[in-house]
Order: sequence, then structure tokens, then C-alpha cells
Amino acid sequence: MSDQLRPRAVGTESTADPWLPTFVEVIRIEPEIRKVRTFELAAPADFSFRPGQFNMLYLPGYGEAAISISSSPDTPASIAHTIRLAGNVTRAIFSLEPGSPIGLRGPFGSHWPVDTYRGWNVVIAAGGIGLAPLRPAIEHVMANRELYGRVAVVYGARSPKDLLYRASFAKWEHAGIEVLVTVDFGDDHWSGPIGVVPTLLEQLPWIGAHTTVWSCGPEIMMRFTAQRAVAQGASPDHVYLSLERNMNCALGFCGHCQFGPTFVCKEGPVYPLPRIQPFLFVEDF
Ligand SMILES: Cc1cc2nc3c(=O)[nH]c(=O)nc-3n(C[C@H](O)[C@H](O)[C@H](O)COP(=O)(O)OP(=O)(O)OC[C@H]3O[C@@H](n4cnc5c(N)ncnc54)[C@H](O)[C@@H]3O)c2cc1C
Repeated sequence: MSDQLRPRAVGTESTADPWLPTFVEVIRIEPEIRKVRTFELAAPADFSFRPGQFNMLYLPGYGEAAISISSSPDTPASIAHTIRLAGNVTRAIFSLEPGSPIGLRGPFGSHWPVDTYRGWNVVIAAGGIGLAPLRPAIEHVMANRELYGRVAVVYGARSPKDLLYRASFAKWEHAGIEVLVTVDFGDDHWSGPIGVVPTLLEQLPWIGAHTTVWSCGPEIMMRFTAQRAVAQGASPDHVYLSLERNMNCALGFCGHCQFGPTFVCKEGPVYPLPRIQPFLFVEDF
């Protein structure tokens, strides 16, 4: 291993320059679903983040990719990233093994408003791998369950074998979170709902003015989830969506992730619905 690639001892360098990656070690790799793995990394010194933020992961010779942090903010020694094999960078990351070095810049971006909505009902709505950036929020709510009202995770995937973090659903339910799951196509073992995420909201009659919705997934899914929640009495002001856009510098300079008048890397990825609604959806609510 070249010195350039060798992980520097945690705590021996400053992470103050947001352009410079810190090299950390891959601790563990967990296969999740087809083409999706979770990479647990040693956290740089004094690393902390808010649920919903992302890092830029870097491999020399391949480049950088924006990847959300998918672990709990309360376990700062290691940070997880759940990654779908997509292209050049993610393919190179999939070739790593425990002990491999990887460059990391971050954390970047806005976060789920977990502190703002203490005492409120919370609907966490995810589609596909969109559950990954929401998992830190779920873990945070779970660890502080008494601070929130009714809490539900509504989640949909293409098929049962595409459900992320399936082994955690029982743990979330045990902590007093309602977990509603649907798939587009069932299999011989599936006895749950078949359909799209927004329809699950109908099973939550408590959604109303004192409910906040945090959603990540395909934009069509977020659109109809937000519409459904608003129809059931939630205010658009309390609906938050996380957007993905092609990202390069993550510092608001390059403009690759421009969305309407905003840069997703700086003002997003988590936006209050009214801020992005004019650029995201054609019709009004
Ligand atoms: C804020 C934010 C958070 C994110 N969080 C996550 C996360 O938690 N997990 C995750 O997996 N991803 C996440 N992403 C998405 C991730 O950054 C992108 O998928 C990234 O582009 C992957 O880099 P890559 O080099 O592997 O793929 P790229 O090469 O950039 O490819 C990206 C897409 O382009 C397609 N593509 C690539 N090459 C070609 C080609 N030659 N011809 C046609 N199509 C092509 C691929 O099929 C793929 O869908 C996030 C993005 C943002 C902005």
C-alpha cells in the first residue's frame, strides 16, 4: 500500500480544509440487498454529524461520490454509508475490503429537523435505498422516543428482497415506532401490502396539523407522499424532502447540483417542501 493511500492515524491531522479528504479505514462491510452494501468506516477525529447529512467518499484514480451517512449520530467512533453500485466510484468502493483506506470529506448539507419537532408526531417515509439517509433519524428518534408523539416509518421497495435493513424493523417496532411496509411485487412468502408508499399513510389516522413528514426516495414517491400527508391535514411547512442531484465539489462552488435557485450541497439535501415545491412539482397542492 502506498503512503498516499495509507490511512492516517485518527487525530493526527486537521480536517479544517473542506477540500481535503481525510483517509480513514474501512472497518466492516455488510451486504444488504442486491448491489447494495453498507461500509462502516472509522470516523475521523472529532467527527460529528446530524441525521440526513452526507460525506464525499473518495478513491484516488476514481473520484468522489456523495454518500449519505446511514448510521446513528450517537455512535461517533464509526460511520456507516449504505451504497448502491452505480458507476465508476461506487464500483471501486465495492472492491475495498476491511482494512482498506478511503478518503472522506464532510459532513455536508442540511439535516432532518429532529430537534425542531420534539413533541410532534413524525412520519418517516422512504422508498428503496432512500431509507439509508433516514436511518440516522430513525435511530435518533428511537434513542429519544419519549420526546416525540406517534412515530411511523412507512417504507416501500420493489420486492421483498429489495427491502433495506429488514432485520431492524422489529427493533424499531419494539421501540414504539409503527413500521408499515409495502412492495410493488410480492413473492411466495410475502403476506404484507402490495402497492405504493403514499397509500400506507391512510393507515395513519393520527396524521394532522401536529405531524411532520420526513421523506427520501424517488421524487414521484415523495411527491405523492407529501400530497397524501397534506390531504390528511399535515401542513406543507412541516414536510421535508431529501433531494439527490449530481454533485461535484459539495461546497457550493461548481454548480453541478444546482436545483432552481439553490445548490443541493449547501442548502439541501433536506429541504422544507415550500422551498422546492415550485421547481419540483408542476401542479400545486
Ligand atoms: C446528497 C446525496 C446523497 C447521496 N447518498 C447516497 C447514498 O447514501 N447511497 C448511494 O448509493 N448513493 C447516494 N447518492 C448518489 C451517488 O452520489 C451517485 O449515485 C453517484 O453518482 C455514484 O457515483 P459513481 O461514480 O459510482 O456513479 P456514476 O458514474 O456517477 O453513475 C451514476 C449513474 O449514472 C449511470 N451511469 C454511469 N455511467 C454511465 C454511462 N457510461 N452510461 C450511462 N449511464 C451511466 C449509472 O447507472 C448510475 O445510475 C447520493 C447523492 C447525493 C447528491
